[in-house]
Amino acid sequence: MDDLRELYQQVILDHQRKPRNFRAIEGAERSADGFNPLCGDRIHVDLRVAGDGRIEDVAFTGSGCAICTASASMMTESMRGKNETEAETLFEGFHHLLTSDEPPTDARDASGLGKLAVFAGVREFPVRVKCATLPWHTLHAALRGRNQPVSTE
Ligand code: ZN
Repeated sequence: MDDLRELYQQVILDHQRKPRNFRAIEGAERSADGFNPLCGDRIHVDLRVAGDGRIEDVAFTGSGCAICTASASMMTESMRGKNETEAETLFEGFHHLLTSDEPPTDARDASGLGKLAVFAGVREFPVRVKCATLPWHTLHAALRGRNQPVSTE
């Protein structure tokens, strides 16, 4: 677990310093807002979906803590090019990784999450789980075309 913890810290720091896809999408077809009152994370996710249902572009804006920002950044990288079923599977896999009671054994291979598996490290800080999952719930709402703001509470 020590390697994973170190990797987790490196990855979080890297994405916090240089968030990927931190921008608005001009003419985004779908978008949603998310808010985590416990921490104060606010996030806006924009999506563009291609004719074949694949996520052509996904980006975020807002202000969140390190974990929220890193999670959003990595999410945008992982979601690009996915169709809705694949996006749903990834969302569920990530959610499961952070919230299930089962220990994250062999987390790196869990549900095809790839490097997202480092977020298993967040499980050690239960209060931070919502910081990490907020961007994902927000993306989920955007994909489904819901206009209601997402709140973790
Ligand atoms: Zn937070």
